Amino acid sequence: MTRERPDATRRARLVVVGAGFAGASLLAKLPAGLQRPGETLLVDRQEQWEFVPLIHEVAVGRVHPDTTRSPIAPLCKDRCGSLRAAATGVDLEARTLHTTAGTVGYEYLVLAGGSSAAPPPEDMAGHFQTFWSLDDALLLRSSLASAWKRARRGEPQPGGLTVALVGGGTTGVELAAEVAVLLRYLGKRSSRPLEDARVVLFEASDRLMGWLDPYFHEVAMERLLRLGVEVRLNTPVEAADPSGVGTPDGWVPAGTRVWTGGVRANPLVESLPVEKDAAGRALVGEYLTLPGHPEVYVLGDGGVYEDLRYGPLPPTASVAVQQGPWAARDLGARVRGAPRYLFDYFDRGYLVSLGPGDAVGRAAGAKVRGAAAHALYRSVFLYYQRGRRDRLLTGVDWAMSRAIGRLGFD
Ligand SMILES: Cc1cc2nc3c(=O)[nH]c(=O)nc-3n(C[C@H](O)[C@H](O)[C@H](O)COP(=O)(O)OP(=O)(O)OC[C@H]3O[C@@H](n4cnc5c(N)ncnc54)[C@H](O)[C@@H]3O)c2cc1C
Repeated sequence: MTRERPDATRRARLVVVGAGFAGASLLAKLPAGLQRPGETLLVDRQEQWEFVPLIHEVAVGRVHPDTTRSPIAPLCKDRCGSLRAAATGVDLEARTLHTTAGTVGYEYLVLAGGSSAAPPPEDMAGHFQTFWSLDDALLLRSSLASAWKRARRGEPQPGGLTVALVGGGTTGVELAAEVAVLLRYLGKRSSRPLEDARVVLFEASDRLMGWLDPYFHEVAMERLLRLGVEVRLNTPVEAADPSGVGTPDGWVPAGTRVWTGGVRANPLVESLPVEKDAAGRALVGEYLTLPGHPEVYVLGDGGVYEDLRYGPLPPTASVAVQQGPWAARDLGARVRGAPRYLFDYFDRGYLVSLGPGDAVGRAAGAKVRGAAAHALYRSVFLYYQRGRRDRLLTGVDWAMSRAIGRLGFD
């Protein structure tokens, strides 16, 4: 991607911020009238995009970190210009995007910068890792690996090998299952018993993954209990220090503490002077544009679209990959002066991994679980990945982790 002088001023008819699920799927369907470097500009702060739905498997050493990274530059080829810079603000009235490489004027702007982890409360922030990016996954892998090495040597450590996960959403559940399977794996490789190797999942409400059908909660509870995960419902975590976490029921020692407490909108969207939901996502209308600013689309995790049938759509990859191509079609109609397209969401269902060989989901209207659901989950991931190289590497990692062992732990 192009690196610019920080004071550069540019202009493009269409500016797309973010080359993730939404941005890349839009560029894949870029209308003919916008397919020229001077017409369309892609702005992303990174050189490589991270396939975050796989980072649980990176954290437990089953997938190599490079497998989750894809270069962004090939998305444009000769069809659009690209700028490696962070977008820092939008002047909606002046139709200008501010970036770390200068300002960019636009006729149409697509904000597709994704989201970030909701942070823990300030008084506990220093005692938790978050889990939202590849860097978070690598940090967790290294915390788990060093706790395991100390336990193997019999060295005392505050909170030992116990892992506390705070937040029973999909990220907390998927991670709890993966870590529980990892601890079993390590237990078999240890000459001494790993007595404090536990996973405790705390959830303040009475249900896991509350935004999904209760079926997800029921199946996940069954599977997590079978894996030995202690699920504590109705248990808000109120305190933490390097030795563990505090709840209304008492102190739980935990050497590794991860905050999996939800999603926060991208700061770029949060800074916009528009109406937002509690997570800071901008409310968008039937064309996925900002009310009063039909030239600004907010796609993927940054926007919240209230569907008449399903309510506010969740921040998921399956929503983002529908919105990108839809926005491309609508933009095509606008530049041709043709009738526009209202956004029409199709509910493809959702799948949640419950560790290797198990998952729960709803697909094509049917409830699925077990090995078949896991096979479906993996095939959806392979479908979402960019190109043959990424699919091949993921397949090789899955095969190798069974045959050879786990990266960072063996
Ligand atoms: C651990 C985890 C597991 C998940 N599992 C699933 C799952 O199983 N199924 C599912 O459907 N969803 C899952 N999700 C959610 C899914 O990953 C998101 O919904 C999806 O990534 C959102 O796509 P997006 O296009 O909005 O943003 P992203 O794909 O995150 O892309 C955002 C892009 O914008 C760039 N960017 C961000 N800010 C700026 C800026 N200021 N300036 C320039 N560039 C910027 C980033 O570099 C990135 O390239 C998971 C999320 C996490 C964190």
